[in-house]
Amino acid sequence: MRYGEMKKVLVTGGAGFLGSHLCERLLAQGHEVLCVDNLFTGSRRNIAHLLGDSRFEFLRHDVTFPLYVEVDEIYNLACPASPVHYQFDPVQTTKTSVIGAINMLGLAKRLKAKVLQASTSEVYGDPEIHPQPEEYWGRVNPIGFRSCYDEGKRCAETLFFDYRRQHDMPVKVVRIFNTYGPRMHPNDGRVVSNLIVQALHGDPISIYGDGSQTRSFCYADDLIDAMIRMMDTGPDIVGPINIGNPGEFTILELAKLVIEMTGSKSPLVFKDLPPDDPKQRRPDITKAREILGWAPKIALRDGLAKTIDYFDAFLTEQRKTIAGGA
Ligand code: NAD
Ligand code: UDP
Ligand code: UDP
Repeated sequence: MRYGEMKKVLVTGGAGFLGSHLCERLLAQGHEVLCVDNLFTGSRRNIAHLLGDSRFEFLRHDVTFPLYVEVDEIYNLACPASPVHYQFDPVQTTKTSVIGAINMLGLAKRLKAKVLQASTSEVYGDPEIHPQPEEYWGRVNPIGFRSCYDEGKRCAETLFFDYRRQHDMPVKVVRIFNTYGPRMHPNDGRVVSNLIVQALHGDPISIYGDGSQTRSFCYADDLIDAMIRMMDTGPDIVGPINIGNPGEFTILELAKLVIEMTGSKSPLVFKDLPPDDPKQRRPDITKAREILGWAPKIALRDGLAKTIDYFDAFLTEQRKTIAGGA
């Protein structure tokens, strides 16, 4: 495979929020895309606009089962990402991360293909070091409600590095920090989608705890750019590399911004903080800047504007469908 040639790229979790953006970008670059998804949290709606493209193929498949296909590169994104969804069937979440990684690594080994793992800032758990550099080993509860996701993703990283050491494979690991944008699941419970949907409905805005916990929010387009840059690096670049937006906001600040930008009259309601909820999170993206020549370009306000427009259109369509069916 020479630089600039059309590749056949497998995207697992391709019908999800980030996966669908990745499929779209890869098609725009001229590649063929095989999107594999079991539609647990993803949907056909997310990829409906891609189905007419002859270079795009969708396969409904669960990555915990072996997969025999022929591709040049693999992006492994399959895994529910929101706490509500990954805690719904925690055993399946761990299986998806661990057995899914084994199957994708086995596939990559047979094909001698590059394989990239979508890991997460959750590998740092509730961190004692701030911001989090890649060298930090994390503080993760192994037996809590978030563990199926956090430990599953940690074990997947272990597998990626062991396959590299044992089989000399071209693996890549990126640790993704909170990312948002159009096509997030409206009911997935993540903070950006929750707050926007509540504000647009005029429902109370749910703040867990006192809202002083922080997160750093990266817009999807920026994130996809970094993922593709990582895949395109040479065999010596393995990672893990943090990707995210270092702008740090309290949840209360986010809520106020959403209310202002939607013009909503929704009141704030304070609810219990979920167990093991990290108090602060911000990526140290020095490595991404130096190795990938990447930094996020889209400010929170600009990304939120696009995301609010998406949910506004989505909810209007949903209301029309309900009214039409009534
Ligand atoms: P998402 O839930 O929208 O996407 C996950 C996709 O994986 C869905 O389409 C789902 O149906 C599919 N899937 C789940 N289990 C599967 C299985 N067993 N077999 C096949 N498909 C399966 O979430 P997302 O935000 O797009 O996240 C994508 C990836 O990025 C995940 O691996 C997630 O852990 C990682 N990530 C995301 C974020 C973020 O903030 N969005 C942060 C860190 C890491
Ligand atoms: N695998 C797969 N597709 C392939 C090759 C392998 O799904 O094209 C799966 C296979 O089911 C196996 C896993 O990947 O369980 C790991 O493969 P590996 O070759 O590392 O291990 P082994 O087959 O020796 O257990
Ligand atoms: N959160 C909140 N209200 C909501 C949803 C989430 O205050 O309606 C908080 C949540 O407790 C956490 C932060 O927002 O502190 C980010 O939550 P999310 O589930 O989006 O991501 P994660 O906790 O996995 O980073």
